[in-house]
Amino acid sequence: MTTVKEFAAASGCSTAGLRPLNDQIVEILLASVNTAQETNLVPCDDIPLLEVTGNSTIPLLQPAARAALQQAIEHKNQPLSLKHALRTIAQQYVLREWVGTCGITSARTPGTSDHERGLAIDIHDDDAVWTHTLRSHGWMDVHGDPGHFHFVGDGINPDILAENVKSFQILWNRNNPNDLIDDDGVYGEHQTGPRLRISPIEGFPIVM
Ligand SMILES: [Zn+2]
Repeated sequence: MTTVKEFAAASGCSTAGLRPLNDQIVEILLASVNTAQETNLVPCDDIPLLEVTGNSTIPLLQPAARAALQQAIEHKNQPLSLKHALRTIAQQYVLREWVGTCGITSARTPGTSDHERGLAIDIHDDDAVWTHTLRSHGWMDVHGDPGHFHFVGDGINPDILAENVKSFQILWNRNNPNDLIDDDGVYGEHQTGPRLRISPIEGFPIVM
């Protein structure tokens, strides 16, 4: 077993190894936010001309963000290469640990990133080529974080970040009935942070 903390310390510069744990968190997340009544996260890898080129990409976005991204790509009519869209707190934690290495210039602390909201993308292409088009479709660039854009248009669900954090908390509790933590959707250093760091990147026995 490799823990998230050990994986981060190894600094392999790819979060692909987190895939089994990521998949478990995402499975719980999708079951909670996509219901018969509403759809809050949708695939974006079916957008024409969008190419998923990251080896750890979770190609999910909020529907309004996905629609605006598709319109931007249609407008420019050029391939866009996508590295990151949605992230779990496991991925966010590891990338934050790698800031200053691996070509990572910036990453927010877990539980605060627009990636965890399903409202951010990282693109491989020279962002200058895309900045104008993405801006005009509600996708804003951030100084000091090249290739990163976050969606600020209408139709955003503000609760997805908490649901994302909560999905890990639920996963932890299902597998650790003797060490239950609050499933409050808040990433804190007393409960969730320490459990995330000792979680297995290979995933837990119980998911749903
Ligand atoms: Zn980003």
